[in-house]
Amino acid sequence: MSSGRVGVVVPGGFPGVPSYRIPEGGEVPAIGARVAVPFGPKLLTGIAADLAPEALAEGTVERELVAVLDDAPFLPPALVGVLLRASTYYFVAPGEMLRAAVPARLLAAAEAVYVATPGAVGAGRRDARQEEILTEVLARGRARVSELAGAIGARGLGPALRALVADGLLRIPAESARAATAPSDKAWVARPAPPDNPAFARAPKRRALHAHLAALGRPARLGELRAAGGSPAVLAALVKAGLASVVEEERRVDLSRHVGPPREDVSHRLTEPQERAVEAIASALLAKEASTFLLDGVTGSGKTEVYLAALERTRAAGRQGILLVPEIALAPALVRRVVARFGDRVSLLHSGLSDGERAAEWERARRGDVDAVVGPRSAVFAPVPRLGLIVVDEAHETSYKQSEAPRYDARDVARVRASEQRAVLVLGSATPSMEQERAAREGRVPRLALPERPGARARAEVEVVDLRQEKPREGDHGRVLFAERTRRILAETFGRGEQAILLLNRRGFSPTLLCRACGEDFRCKNCSVARTYHQRAARLLCHYCNDAIPRPNACPKCASRVLQPIGFGTERLAERFEEAFPGVTYAVLDRDAAARRGGAAGVLADFEEGRARALLGTQMVAKGHDFPNATALAVLDADALLSFPDFRSAERTFQLVTQAAGRVGRGDKPGLVAVQTCRPEHEAIRAAVAQDHAAFADAELRFRRAFRYPPYAHLLLALWTAAEARDAEAAARVGAATLLDSSVAPRLRVLGPAPAPLERLHGAWRFHVLVKAEAREAIAEAGRVLAALQDAPRLDVDPQNLL
Ligand code: ADP
Ligand code: ZN
Ligand code: ZN
Repeated sequence: MSSGRVGVVVPGGFPGVPSYRIPEGGEVPAIGARVAVPFGPKLLTGIAADLAPEALAEGTVERELVAVLDDAPFLPPALVGVLLRASTYYFVAPGEMLRAAVPARLLAAAEAVYVATPGAVGAGRRDARQEEILTEVLARGRARVSELAGAIGARGLGPALRALVADGLLRIPAESARAATAPSDKAWVARPAPPDNPAFARAPKRRALHAHLAALGRPARLGELRAAGGSPAVLAALVKAGLASVVEEERRVDLSRHVGPPREDVSHRLTEPQERAVEAIASALLAKEASTFLLDGVTGSGKTEVYLAALERTRAAGRQGILLVPEIALAPALVRRVVARFGDRVSLLHSGLSDGERAAEWERARRGDVDAVVGPRSAVFAPVPRLGLIVVDEAHETSYKQSEAPRYDARDVARVRASEQRAVLVLGSATPSMEQERAAREGRVPRLALPERPGARARAEVEVVDLRQEKPREGDHGRVLFAERTRRILAETFGRGEQAILLLNRRGFSPTLLCRACGEDFRCKNCSVARTYHQRAARLLCHYCNDAIPRPNACPKCASRVLQPIGFGTERLAERFEEAFPGVTYAVLDRDAAARRGGAAGVLADFEEGRARALLGTQMVAKGHDFPNATALAVLDADALLSFPDFRSAERTFQLVTQAAGRVGRGDKPGLVAVQTCRPEHEAIRAAVAQDHAAFADAELRFRRAFRYPPYAHLLLALWTAAEARDAEAAARVGAATLLDSSVAPRLRVLGPAPAPLERLHGAWRFHVLVKAEAREAIAEAGRVLAALQDAPRLDVDPQNLL
């Protein structure tokens, strides 16, 4: 039955699934098991993916599998299939998808480190080989396979190690040497020793500590041993003399470090629409049919409550759920509620975890020790064995599409995975994307609607503040930061002791610093954009490549000393805010603040707990937060996004304003939102003011259909970069011409080549070709044609960003 060969996904950019010979009489790995394989000069850990790979071409030497590292699949076999499909769909190497999916640490298992667990100390008799290994590991504290092989020989090492791990006597600490913080706890345990052991001579501390440990008769941690004279030095001496052993216990990630202290779990009686939504999800779950729902609930309608109830039904059915959020740091309240509900049975895959912590959490999910996994887009690959439900919160967010390689979209991967594992996919949003909206309108994805906020709470009122009527302040170059009306709304809010949010989607002090004499605007030397002025750090920073220069005192071109900041960023907003509202405490939330101590969660907590009465920031303030005492919100520049050279700019503007409006008036007091704009008649602004997603979608879908943009066409963006503009352009020309000559040409529309809107980035010139097609298969074919070019472009399937 077995072909004697196995196809293995190896981490890295290798374009296929190389095949290996299974040694004569050797073990056949399960699909999804880790295997050690030679690759070039290295030994790599890969995943067995295919037990009937195609034979290698004549004349090539097939190499041999070195070892099978797992008895049971490490990845659920269905997930291996998902990775391979994603790799084909997005034109990325299988090994790149693997790297995106699995914590690096867990793919380094071919050089695994073994440590003893507390159980190893008093373990009953094992077979001779296992005894030998245990003794060696206990003596060393931790040991690599290569070290063990050196000390006691390699014969039968693999199976013996696996048996010891399976019986819980040894552990491969997911978090070994490379972790930023070692999350495992060390403990020491006494080994028998005669009182006249030479190591005790003239070493009363050692003797006392050994006696203490022996009396305890169980492993003890350093903190506990200090009172008995335990110090790292004395303990190390005992271990060295063979009088004590080190054991390690897996330490759980401290959730409160990432999401703040736990809260009490308030569970509401579901409203009727919530109840209907949960029932629909639960019956699909019980029917074990793969299905997708759009949970279309206005802001504050209680989508979270539906997620939690659906996750509970999943647990009750003996299956596990994955909850995807755009960014954990921006969703502390949601995460706290999941933790309150599921306690220890939730695994948090946070980007702020150390490599080792991530690996440890991943392993818990894999062992089925959790009922729910919460994480950003990469959590779609969480290896839960019995997947029942995937929830995508704020499913319209573009951050679900990875903007670097591999450019996968977690929402589409989730759909494939749900169908492979007969799980239910729930896309939750108050502002569904046009793709999601069309699917719901055409009945392909049932819509579960939550049209109201629970109780008698109304949505916030939104009003337009027309900036064209305002008189700009002297020196502001015609730009208005606070209109009179906005200022009054904010003042009244603070006067009532309530909180307000101010949204300005640009960090730094001002988008440009301009020489008044010659017009120099300090462009980035690598990118075709002006650098942003950061006053606090006294530098000019490129927001695309992070290249920074100190703020000059004079213009380098003409020596003029009149350099003026033009426009507003959050830093300057803070300065003006202090001027306009003296004494009102505020906090700033943007990428710069998130990078400081305490991070985004700290800022959010300051506002939530009332230490700050105003929250100033970029679109980060508009994400799904729930601030009951915030009653006013000002969108200071609603037009900024509208002018982006992207067909989705209207959709993004509508979403941002609607989501922002959803942040206020969530408590008992009504909310008021001021939207400052110069284009009040624009459809996106009008619909956002009316908070009418259907009206916006009517207009936007008409536009998309007319101009053949998604959801009425599929897109493929091909990008060529080169040190010289003409080389990039020439390569793009060849690419476009090849496409137009190919047999798929009649089914495509090829736009370009054209300079990318960001013509230069990171020092490279950029030209792109945008391919549109009605049929998904035509896009795949176009991608294959382009990928086969000598000068192959970077391919982005279903791009979310056309810059
Ligand atoms: P969304 O995610 O849809 O914006 P949330 O889930 O944050 O909304 O819920 C908004 C508010 O409504 C929260 O304060 C929540 O506690 C409350 N809520 C949710 N469901 C109910 C319910 N059935 N009864 C009363 N309050 C509810
Ligand atoms: Zn100048
Ligand atoms: Zn740059």
